[in-house]
Amino acid sequence: MTPLAERLTSLTRDLMLIPSTDSRPDERRRAVQFVLNHLQGIDSLEIKRYESQGYESLVVTPKGCDHPDVLLCGHLDVVEHASLDAYASTVRDGQIHGPGSGDMKGAVAILIELFLRVIRRHPSASLGLAITTDEEIGGTNGLHYLVESEGLRCGIAIIPDGGALTNVTIAEKGIIHGRLCAVGESGHAARPWLACNPLTTLMDALTALRHHFTEQIPPATASAEHWYPTCSVTQIATPNQSINRIPSEACATLDIRFPPPHTASSMVAFIEELVRKHDPKHSLTFNTIITAEATTLDPDPVFLAITERLTHTPVTKVRASGGSDARFLNAHGIPVILSRPTVGNLHGHDEWIDIASMETYYHICEAYLSDRLALAL
Ligand SMILES: [Zn+2]
Repeated sequence: MTPLAERLTSLTRDLMLIPSTDSRPDERRRAVQFVLNHLQGIDSLEIKRYESQGYESLVVTPKGCDHPDVLLCGHLDVVEHASLDAYASTVRDGQIHGPGSGDMKGAVAILIELFLRVIRRHPSASLGLAITTDEEIGGTNGLHYLVESEGLRCGIAIIPDGGALTNVTIAEKGIIHGRLCAVGESGHAARPWLACNPLTTLMDALTALRHHFTEQIPPATASAEHWYPTCSVTQIATPNQSINRIPSEACATLDIRFPPPHTASSMVAFIEELVRKHDPKHSLTFNTIITAEATTLDPDPVFLAITERLTHTPVTKVRASGGSDARFLNAHGIPVILSRPTVGNLHGHDEWIDIASMETYYHICEAYLSDRLALAL
């Protein structure tokens, strides 16, 4: 391994040992402190540590540089695994394996190394580093909070949390998380004619939704992007505790993704209309939990050209079904570059990141910063 690959690998593996999940606020704090330990003591830096609803964030810039031209963004939170033993790593076949390697502690290690290298050589470079801890649950108290409540702004952001080394994301679908609920009348399950079962109403509506989203929209293929609306039922619940009782209400949560020209309000209106047709008694309601419009990322063509030069591979511009923190910056017209090293099995036990691609990604970002900020690196 090259010295750079060794540094990136050990920093990634150290970060992976911390089970910084949503249910473990102390571990998330420890992960933030771990990053701070690498940055404190550098006189030229201004370090701001924020907290919103128990979620900590860091924004680090050269002193006096409130709006850096380029902002490097990453998140330290990782998805939950049942056993703490899962939060370990192995290196084999040139890859780091284990939870958080690909999403996105390997990328955070690159951002830290890159930031330190630039700042040590050019202490007043117009470069910032933003680290958050709630991306996996929606980013509300992380990047959204920093942008909306703390006024975080930049010329362009680099977020290595989507796409691939030579796949640069140019658009992301919008998101609706909502709850579809039916109310009825509870009763004894032996005499169903005396009750009004909200589960039946709910199931009929979900069936209608499924028919629409599977029959009116072309099927997805494994290889190509699926630039159409989708709707997933993710939870169904009633307050019922008894097998022989018909419940008084039933709710399902829906995760809806949509590309333009659909908007959050046009999709909500569509869902309400479709559901209403299957609800003669008007017992269904649909309430949104979060909504986000579809996003256009507008990556800098210079970054794409540098990627092609250093990988000897043409760049593919991709449209993503999933959302990222990019949407919070997009809301203020800030372009985002969303590509990353080669990763796999994201959110699984055997998640991995390819070490050679980490080095390549580092060099792509380094060359881009050198060009954009006119710095000798
Ligand atoms: Zn991520």
